[in-house]
Amino acid sequence: MSTSVEEQAFENVSRLINDICERTNVSEICRLRLTGCERELTVRFPVKMDDGQVRVFSGFRVVHNDSRGPAKGGIRYHPDVTLDEVRALAALMTLKTAVVNVPYGGAKGAVICDPKDLSQGELERLTRRYASEIAIFIGPNIDIPAPDVGTSPQVMAWIMDTYSTLRGYSPAVITGKPLEVGGSKGRFEATGRGCMISALLAAKHAGVNAAEATIAIQGFGNVGATVAKLLATEGCLIIAVSDSRGGVYSPNGLDLEGLCAQKTETGSVVGFKNAEAITNAELLELPCDILIPAAIEHQLVEANAASVKAKIVAEGANAPTTPAADKILYANGVFVVPDVLANAGGVIVSYLEWVQNLQVFCWDEAQVNGYLQSMMTDSFGDVLQISALQKVDMRTAAYMTALGRLATAMAARGLFP
Ligand code: NAD
Repeated sequence: MSTSVEEQAFENVSRLINDICERTNVSEICRLRLTGCERELTVRFPVKMDDGQVRVFSGFRVVHNDSRGPAKGGIRYHPDVTLDEVRALAALMTLKTAVVNVPYGGAKGAVICDPKDLSQGELERLTRRYASEIAIFIGPNIDIPAPDVGTSPQVMAWIMDTYSTLRGYSPAVITGKPLEVGGSKGRFEATGRGCMISALLAAKHAGVNAAEATIAIQGFGNVGATVAKLLATEGCLIIAVSDSRGGVYSPNGLDLEGLCAQKTETGSVVGFKNAEAITNAELLELPCDILIPAAIEHQLVEANAASVKAKIVAEGANAPTTPAADKILYANGVFVVPDVLANAGGVIVSYLEWVQNLQVFCWDEAQVNGYLQSMMTDSFGDVLQISALQKVDMRTAAYMTALGRLATAMAARGLFP
């Protein structure tokens, strides 16, 4: 019998939804609908490999809820991904899209595979076959996938092309595409930019002067490196960063340009000159104003939460804080901007990409960034207001905000027939 956190992933999200529905008097029918998934598709399909052999792969597409609009969520390629994990990630997307008030529901998809073991040709054949298998489920007004762990803009382009071949030209069927085939300007940096905006709003709220704030960032990939560069341009001092191999620390601030050049050259920030070597565990406990976990899940746990010295934690990663750690951080007065808010910049700009595709029109980057700025600011304000009114932490307030919007939408739409 399995008891691991990952294998109970959907149960964990569902329990949280259940608890908050009960606390906020959300209707019984709404609670019942949100504690299960609306539609689930499991596919098994053959792919011809480069050596002539045929392998059979399994994949999923799950829609958790679409009361507020077409379902939205990424496609993950990972060897260990399970249906349960996909259900949990789909439910988190329902909450995330509602927190930032984009007119979407929540979905997620996956193929059990290791993309690093596949040639470019194998990856394309696998992607096109998976796209054709889930084509009955997705569509610009039904369910709109996006990239996630192990997938890329190129994978999105193949899915768009496969779907368009079957149904007619449909760039709005998927987001996170390359610019040349309907992608949006600003999409690549969107999650890091949204995280920067939420960190600065949190600093203002907590009375931290952003122009002098010290920042530690775990993870130096798309989200971590982008948020580092953007916060540095705001005058913040990036004192520590890390990747899967370890971290570097300089209390006077790191030379980000040099760091990025080294990362490109060696694939890691480790060994950067004029900085002290630290471990990922040490980075999380550094004295700093803002800590940004932007790598993987379950980094702030019961064992290290009390040692966090940051005044603010802005969750760039998904689920970097366990529920037990969350309680400790709240009790210690650490202001946590939860993942469903702090890393929602990606889904916001995905929404803007979809709007541009539907209008058959392209906006410039300043326009995209302007919308992102105002949507993140409004969402942060909404959640902060609930947090103050209900005297709850920002994560509970974000879930309350989302569930309130979902309940209102469900009540307004009523039942068919
Ligand atoms: P990425 O693969 O570009 O970067 C991940 C970084 O984390 C890398 O620097 C990697 O070395 C580091 N890392 C991996 N394992 C680590 C470990 N055990 N300890 C420390 N560092 C480790 O990924 P990304 O797109 O930047 O995503 C980072 C997080 O943000 C993930 O949780 C992802 O789900 C979340 N997220 C990303 C987006 C997006 O648009 N990219 C949107 C929402 C949420």
